[in-house]
Amino acid sequence: MQDTIKYQGLRKQLIELLKDKGIIDTKVLEVMGSVPRHFFMDPGLINFAYEDNAYPIAADQTISQPYTVAYQSELLQLSKFDKVLEIGTGSGYQTAILLGITSQVYTVERQQILFKKTQLLFQKMGLRPKKHLFGDGYLGYEKAAPFDRIVVTAAAPEVPRVLLNQLKIGGKLIIPLGEKDQFMMRFTKTGPNLFDKEKFGRFRFVPLLENKN
Ligand code: SAH
Repeated sequence: MQDTIKYQGLRKQLIELLKDKGIIDTKVLEVMGSVPRHFFMDPGLINFAYEDNAYPIAADQTISQPYTVAYQSELLQLSKFDKVLEIGTGSGYQTAILLGITSQVYTVERQQILFKKTQLLFQKMGLRPKKHLFGDGYLGYEKAAPFDRIVVTAAAPEVPRVLLNQLKIGGKLIIPLGEKDQFMMRFTKTGPNLFDKEKFGRFRFVPLLENKN
């Protein structure tokens, strides 16, 4: 697969749209301007790669809408020194954006078919997360905890305690909470068992899978 002038042009337009929609983090905009989203799309949908929409990927999941990826990335306030855990690798697009900011990216996926597909793509693209794991994100990743940042890219009915526990003091968790639709939430750990909670805009995500075999 190739990144052509056509795609670069469409990507520029998408970045302008993200700015119009209120994204201001220059690093996030720069990285999203450089990562070819069409590499992460289902082959039949490549022409839509630079539309600001979510699209189906394997296993009934979706590649997040670019605005949502930008929004979550901005709320993370990620620096190049941060260790970040992503729950819900999916297509790997959000992972690639995180890798454009820090090299310390851990990412977990629950659907094996997606895990395998995205693992191949990462290899092809030379993307190297510290760990790309097949498993249940509800458990976080204890081995590499605590994290500076955690981002959940699927909806949970309430905040998983385990993920809060795996944050450093000063660390932040971004997670969409709710059933049918969700509010984007940011939890900042201010003490061993103390959190600041902020509520942001409304979104719609696929559910975080629980008790899946
Ligand atoms: N960031 C991804 C979003 C994919 S949608 C992208 O833009 O492509 C959410 C993903 O979370 C799906 O791939 C889904 O399989 C995964 N997921 C759902 N429940 C999970 C769980 N408990 N642990 C890890 N991943 C999970």
